[in-house]
Order: sequence, then structure tokens, then C-alpha cells
Amino acid sequence: MAVDSTSSSTAVAASAGSGSRPPYHLATELVHIDSEIVKDNYNAASVPIYQTATFKQRAADGSEGEYDYSRSGNPTRTAVEVHMAKIMTAERAFVVSTGMTALDVILRLVKSGQEVIAGDDLYGGTNRLLTYVSQFNGVKVHNVDTTEVDRVVEKLDPIKTRLVLLESPTNPMIKIADIRKIAAKVHELCPSALVVVDNTMMSPYLQNTLAMGVDIEYHSGTKYLSGHHDLMAGVIGCRTKEVSDLVYFVINASGSGLGPLDSWLLLRGVKTLGIRMEKQQSNAILIANFLESQGLKVHFPGLESHPQYELHKSLSSGPGAVLSFETGDVGLSERIVESARLWSISVSFGCVNSLISMPCKMSHSSIPAEVRKQRHLPEDLIRLCVGIEHPDDLINDLTHALETAGVAVKKNN
Ligand SMILES: *Cc1c(COP(=O)(O)O)cnc(C)c1O
Repeated sequence: MAVDSTSSSTAVAASAGSGSRPPYHLATELVHIDSEIVKDNYNAASVPIYQTATFKQRAADGSEGEYDYSRSGNPTRTAVEVHMAKIMTAERAFVVSTGMTALDVILRLVKSGQEVIAGDDLYGGTNRLLTYVSQFNGVKVHNVDTTEVDRVVEKLDPIKTRLVLLESPTNPMIKIADIRKIAAKVHELCPSALVVVDNTMMSPYLQNTLAMGVDIEYHSGTKYLSGHHDLMAGVIGCRTKEVSDLVYFVINASGSGLGPLDSWLLLRGVKTLGIRMEKQQSNAILIANFLESQGLKVHFPGLESHPQYELHKSLSSGPGAVLSFETGDVGLSERIVESARLWSISVSFGCVNSLISMPCKMSHSSIPAEVRKQRHLPEDLIRLCVGIEHPDDLINDLTHALETAGVAVKKNN
């Protein structure tokens, strides 16, 4: 397994170097919150939670205060937004109530008659929201295999295309899109189109898509950014001021900004993103190798057998901690999932504890069965979202689950 465990920590937050100090590694930037962001009277070491809807004004015309109403802005939210902008090297970042809200805000930049080009192996909720806008808002959505740049280019229309929406790696099939090449092609052929990446699977720690020319990168903050499955949030990072202004307008107009308490929890969670991701990823590499050694078909961009191993390596500093595998039989997969004791059966990923699921029965069940078939989503697929436990316990539990389900497990040593 050719993953250099130090590679991800060599990523440097490019925007952070301006002015008085050199840029630090991302792992360092994550834990240091710029104390200038919130001007707290008492020098609180932790950013205070401004649990308030309104802010008193001194001038009758309300022109003096920095904040007036929390839908429009709140200091705790500003703290996490400024921090996320630094981590993502965004011109500006915004935090909203969920990952789906982030996509909803972005989709409001598309007018009736305009078109969206998206992948064909998308997060289930993304698929549902895109179906909604195509049915109710007069927006045409093309689902194409984004592993092939030409499939995207074929659908580009210089007048109608407004968004090109990518996930890489996709979930649960772990397919890779050449984000850099697609962004360059879209900007060349459709100057008014925006390239948008849902970067939830990699997190800003492993993949910086704004630096690849993407216009908007968004995340479900519910996953790796918070890391403990104790809050829901969405994060939107914009590359230019023009796009930032459009996104801010929608958030303020629709009232989708994250509340103060959840903003504070997100800020706390993101500080440990680096250490969590390193551990989850190194566990995932061991588990992917174990499953592959059992002769199972494993989808993980850290395996040299992955058809796009090199491409993924050129985009990201690591393979992440989500993998999937096929068993060849739905019943067998069900027995494996139900026999796991340490791995909890749960949707979602990015949490410190390990999770196991069958996407077709759970997170992706909102995609109709015939569409799943068209998109080659195997019904027997098992997805693993690897946590920070001791890897021996995780592998022993998988071994037990495979054996209980009737798989003859080969011992490696
Ligand atoms: C979870 C998830 C979302 C949706 O985020 P929520 O916070 O659940 O609304 C979007 N994209 C991906 C890749 C996800 O995993």
C-alpha cells in the first residue's frame, strides 16, 4: 500500500500566509482560531456562544453595530465561517443548517430553463433534491458518468449550463472524477457556468478543490468536519467574491444560516479533523487490504487495484476512510452486516466510531431500484465507514462477521 502517512500533513493552507507569519501546515491551522475574529471583552480562550437573535443598536438608523439580527450574521457563526474559509482557502465560507441546505442554497443560483450536469453515483439526498428541482423548478438535470471528462463535455451548453456538480470519490462506488480537467473545460467552454464539488468524502484535510479551479466547494459538516455525529451542518466555500455575494444573499434571504450553538460545536469539532482523519484513514487502508486479501471486490482509492488510483493520488493527499465491497449475494451481505458487533449499522460517515451499511437498502434507497440498476449500483454492496478504534478489533470483528455469515476466512499470517 503506497500511502505516505505524512503526505496529507504537508498540505499548507495557502491563504493563511499573508502578512506577519509564514503559512502553517493544515493540521496546525485547524487547531488555531484567529483570536481577532471575535473581539471578546474577557479574552475567552474558547469562542463565546452568542445565543442571541438580535443585537442592540446605538444609532437610530442601525448603522453602527457590526451585527443586528442573527439571520443576517452572528459572531459565533462568523468565527466558524472565517476559520473554514482559511482551511478551505476560500474567498469566503458560509455555514448553514445541513449539507442538503448547502446544496439547496447553491441550486437557487439556477434559473428555470437553465441546466445542471451532475454525476450518476451521487449521495441519495442530492439525487432527491435534484429530482425535485427538475420537477418543480424547470431545471434540466443531466446525470452522467463523471469519471469520463467527455461525458461531461458532451452535455455542456454555453447558454444553458449553469452548474456542473461533482463528487469525487463518489459514494458508495468510490469513482473518481478528474476535477481539475473538468473545471478547466467547463470554464473554457461555458464561462458563465459554475463548477461545484461536494467534497464531504475527502474533507478539506485531504482535498482542496478550490485550488483546482472549482467555484464552489461544499460539505456536509455533519460528517468529518464535526466528527462525532452530534450536530448537523453544511459548509459552503466560494472561490470568488462575486459568487460569495450571491451565496450570502440566498442564505440571508432564506434564513438558512447555522445557529450559534451548532456553529460553536462545529468549530470545536473541526479542530481535531487532522488527527481523526489520519487515524481513520490508516485504519481504512489496513481494512481494505484485509478484505482484498479475502478475494472480495473492494472499492477504495488507496488500493493499487483501483482503476483510478493514480488520478485520485493526483487530486488528494490520501484515500480517506470510506470503502465499499461486493460479496456477490444480497443475502450474504445482509448476514455479514447483521453479524458485526463492533461496527454499528448506520447511515452516514465521518464519525469517530466505525459504521457498516448496505447503501441500496439504507442511504441510497430513495433512488428507485431501476435507476440503481441503470447506474450499476450493486444491491449486495456493503459500505464501511472506518473510525478511530484499534484496527485489530475492527478486523477481528469483520472476520467474525464474515465467518458467521458463511465466508471461509483466510488467515494471512
Ligand atoms: C451526508 C451527505 C450530504 C448531506 O448532508 P446532511 O448534513 O446530511 O444534510 C451530502 N453529500 C454527501 C456526500 C454526504 O455524505
